Amino acid sequence: MTHRSDITGLRPDVTGVFVSLRCSGCATAFEAYQPTVAGLAFGQHACPRCGAVSEVAPEDFAAALDRFLPEERWEELVRLTGEATRVAESWHQMPELRSILRHRDVELGPATERQIVALIAAGLNAAARGEGPA
Ligand SMILES: [Zn+2]
Repeated sequence: MTHRSDITGLRPDVTGVFVSLRCSGCATAFEAYQPTVAGLAFGQHACPRCGAVSEVAPEDFAAALDRFLPEERWEELVRLTGEATRVAESWHQMPELRSILRHRDVELGPATERQIVALIAAGLNAAARGEGPA
């Protein structure tokens, strides 16, 4: 059985958001990581105290975004995540890298795409803010 707990805060990351929740069962406040796909979050999180599962419904998440995050900051994060995904999926396609990134019969480039999106997004985010390499 899932509940819909109150969202009491949001803390964005380059590939998702830390959502602050107040358990609808026992009122314990906790923070859960919520990956996002094209800016839309959907997920379930277990309360660390009573185990009740809270669902973050897209409409609740959208309402929380309006309350806690300036729209332009969110749009920038979605844009950077998209750009990082494009880079992660294409960088290993260069012929020179393709042969280097081969171990036995496994192509390592495609296998690492998901993991490096966050790293590339962090670098793009730092560059967009005029900071040096992360
Ligand atoms: Zn609870």
